[in-house]
Amino acid sequence: MTSTNRSEELFDRAGAVIPGGVNSPVRAFGAVGGTPRFMASARGPYLVDADGNEYVDLICSWGPMILGHGHPEVVEAVHRATEYGTSFGAPTEGEVLLAEEMVARTPIDKVRLVSSGTEATMSAIRLARGFTERSKIVKFAGCYHGHSDALLAAAGSGVATFGLPDSPGVTGAATADTIVIRYNDIAAVEETFGEHGHEIACVITEACPANMGIVPPTEGFNAALKQICERYGALLIVDEVLTGFRVSSSGWYGLEGVAGDLYTFGKVMGGGLPAAAFGGRAEIMDRLAPAGPVYQAGTLSGNPLATAAGLATLRAATDEVYARIDHAATVVAQAATDALTKEGVPHRLQTAGNLFSIFFAEGAVLDFEQAQRQSTRRYAAFFHTALDHGVYLPPSAYEAWFLSAAHDATALERIADALPHAARAAAEAA
Ligand SMILES: *Cc1c(COP(=O)(O)O)cnc(C)c1O
Repeated sequence: MTSTNRSEELFDRAGAVIPGGVNSPVRAFGAVGGTPRFMASARGPYLVDADGNEYVDLICSWGPMILGHGHPEVVEAVHRATEYGTSFGAPTEGEVLLAEEMVARTPIDKVRLVSSGTEATMSAIRLARGFTERSKIVKFAGCYHGHSDALLAAAGSGVATFGLPDSPGVTGAATADTIVIRYNDIAAVEETFGEHGHEIACVITEACPANMGIVPPTEGFNAALKQICERYGALLIVDEVLTGFRVSSSGWYGLEGVAGDLYTFGKVMGGGLPAAAFGGRAEIMDRLAPAGPVYQAGTLSGNPLATAAGLATLRAATDEVYARIDHAATVVAQAATDALTKEGVPHRLQTAGNLFSIFFAEGAVLDFEQAQRQSTRRYAAFFHTALDHGVYLPPSAYEAWFLSAAHDATALERIADALPHAARAAAEAA
């Protein structure tokens, strides 16, 4: 058993000055119980907590660290940027370089940088409404698009984990124009458009949902969304905050090839610093202030450190890097499902490129309701035993597992050694 004295002490002190002791709910271990580990440092595929325990990291900051922690080129880029000045409130070359890099890799013509995925989706929705001069938006149950009011309806992981159906503080007025539909249900989309088609500004969807566990779009689903949107003059907003630049150099678009009208990005493009973005066709993006009338702004948007980290990450993310992540993900997913099968634990592995998740229930998961039929108690036992064996899994059954190019043979072996113990604990937690 590892000592967690220092994490316990910090969690106590945190609880006195920070609500719930954390600055983002899933970090509190609420879904799996126990004391969250306070992290002190990270290197390559490893995290080290405040008590000096080392873990193989399977969340990678919820996606951004595709190169592993402390990649020399990213560290160097941030150091250099720090010396030149950390924020100017005026434009910089770094923003142009990052925008050019993103435009080159994705189907967008123009991009606006912001500081979080929440801001990106919130702003994309405003732009879609401004462009179409319509009010209603369509989202899917279980898809998470950050925590802005209009999108905080049936919003997946964080909310699912804590069993909050709707957050207090989100008014009926704020979500009155949000229509929530079951994921992968194209008939329901057709029906909704049949009824409200000419009032709908946009459909927002995760390119491949990864915030209710991995629930890939069924064959043709995204293409059908695009086609319905076109038919009714609505925009398709593809949220690639999580999948963008992670599942391929051009995100989920690189795997499926269905182009949306607007895209949102975050996570990987900030290289571990706060950067996110939304982009799309020039004719739509040029409606944004100061080119057009739709207002959007940010004091720290395009921050020099964040753009330096993001640009260095994207430039270092070669085909070889993606091949390494794909390989590591395949090895870990197989080891996990083998260990669970051996212990007779009912489970379902679902993958999306190099992302995967394991549902502690049998049968395909196509939507949020099916995702919620799993045993979170088994997952909690699985999680804690892995943690005791030096593997840091996502502290919620509704999250994807994240690998990086730094997960080498040694790290993969440590995971493979821990998983049989975790699977046994899951079997016993029945
Ligand atoms: C993480 C995430 C967001 C929100 O991004 P934040 O930077 O946490 O605000 C939005 N959409 C998707 C698909 C995400 O995974």
